[in-house]
Amino acid sequence: MGVRNGAQYLDSLKDDRLIIYDGRPVGSVADEPGLRNTAKVVAQFYDFQTSAENLDSMTYCTADGERVGMAFKEARTKDALRQRAVAYGLWAEVTCGFMGRSPDYMNSFLSTLGSVSVLLSDVDPQLGERARNIYLEARSRDLCYTHTFAEPFKVLPAPPHEPAPACIVVRETDDGLVIRGARALATLAPFANMNFDLPGGAACRHNDIPYLCGFVTPVAAPGLRWICRDKHDVNHTDSRLAARLDEMDCVAIFDDCLIPWSSVYMFVPLSAALPGFDYVMSVLQHHVLIRSIAKTRFVLGLAHLIAESSRVNQFINVQERLGEMVCWLRTLEAFAVAAVEDAVFEERSQIFYPNPRTTEVAGIWAAQLYPRMISHLLDLGGSRHVSTTQERTLDLLGDLAEQHFRGDSTDAKENIALFRLAWEVAGSTWGARQDLYERFHFGDATLRKVGGYLRFDRSQAVEMVRRILSSPLQSDAIFPVPKRN
Ligand SMILES: Cc1cc2nc3c(=O)[nH]c(=O)nc-3n(C[C@H](O)[C@H](O)[C@H](O)COP(=O)(O)OP(=O)(O)OC[C@H]3O[C@@H](n4cnc5c(N)ncnc54)[C@H](O)[C@@H]3O)c2cc1C
Repeated sequence: MGVRNGAQYLDSLKDDRLIIYDGRPVGSVADEPGLRNTAKVVAQFYDFQTSAENLDSMTYCTADGERVGMAFKEARTKDALRQRAVAYGLWAEVTCGFMGRSPDYMNSFLSTLGSVSVLLSDVDPQLGERARNIYLEARSRDLCYTHTFAEPFKVLPAPPHEPAPACIVVRETDDGLVIRGARALATLAPFANMNFDLPGGAACRHNDIPYLCGFVTPVAAPGLRWICRDKHDVNHTDSRLAARLDEMDCVAIFDDCLIPWSSVYMFVPLSAALPGFDYVMSVLQHHVLIRSIAKTRFVLGLAHLIAESSRVNQFINVQERLGEMVCWLRTLEAFAVAAVEDAVFEERSQIFYPNPRTTEVAGIWAAQLYPRMISHLLDLGGSRHVSTTQERTLDLLGDLAEQHFRGDSTDAKENIALFRLAWEVAGSTWGARQDLYERFHFGDATLRKVGGYLRFDRSQAVEMVRRILSSPLQSDAIFPVPKRN
């Protein structure tokens, strides 16, 4: 089949998916107010990749001659990594980086699952084969995936009672695993065809040993419900972001769902090592990095324009903030170069992966920078963020609008549109969700930094300090030279 266009994608949403919003099932996602515009934007992604102008950048031909999405490409050369990054970047520019879970995000994940299937085969050949097939099917059908990873409303253990796991394997049958319970948090779920449950999902025991289980399932699988948070779109016409794009976040509830064995890509003792998952994460974080560059550029542009519109950009402190945002953008761009130039070649799969250390640090930076950029944006606009009104009110005010709502070089309508846009990003409910997304969607940055420190090989750093400490205490002594191995 190969790449889909927007109409084919929208057609694929006509199934028995059970999306629950405000106490009722949503009949058709593509028609539901507050969801339908996002369905259109996802469809736009598919039209974008199949347009004559973008086809060569957004897609490629497999060895079998099938044209498929670029994010599915397994990088046998560094150049392939660059091509993939260009494709991520082209789409991220369209949505200004505000679509975290555009289909290419999980497509890149699935391509890496396909690549590391050879490593999974070392653990269990059947699992390796299933992982490869899951990838090939996603690629060939151009499926749109969401993913679940965490427990909703996780409660940490408080002795003497252990909280019950939120999701369990209730039965193992000849046909597959039967899953019961809840999983979080599936961004884009109403608009996806499939869900990828990351390893560590449903708790289970096999032969009385704790087991790690991971599986894929159609969003429309029988017994699976998707519980939506509030919609964030606004029902007047002055919104340029929230009204167009709200990816929605859902809790999945499995009500004794049968997962066929062919969809179980992970079923191993909890103590087993998960080979290749570092590479899977590095590819995902590479996507995050490229998207974050687009988003940073957009917020920087917004900050510059609002500072200019009120002429506060003449002040050195304002210029310093804008300069800081330029540094952040340049840092992310440098990470993107380093991730590819310093890519890691893995012998068994014969694949290049973006450098995992670089992408991990870049991901943490992106998570930390976004809230700081939003804080700058709020500071630069001050009360102007909430001195706005609606376009129709400006029409009503006539000349008064131009007297009181214009900017330095913008008329009232342009100026108000600019500040409304800034408020959507920095102050609205939709904006707050974007902020939370950047902080948490890949796990909490604090814990990721702690992990980075604990895994860090400190020997070289410590050795440097020891060399100086162990040198003689003489004022005329020169530096002791490090031993070369
Ligand atoms: C908008 C949004 C979209 C998301 N989309 C997806 C998605 O599509 N798919 C998906 O799988 N997941 C998604 N996530 C969920 C994401 O995986 C989780 O947010 C992440 O795993 C962190 O878990 P948590 O939110 O339960 O926070 P927690 O890990 O519980 O953290 C909450 C706070 O407690 C602190 N804390 C927690 N544990 C410790 C500890 N051991 N020591 C010290 N401090 C600790 C943290 O520092 C943090 O401040 C999304 C999250 C958000 C906010």
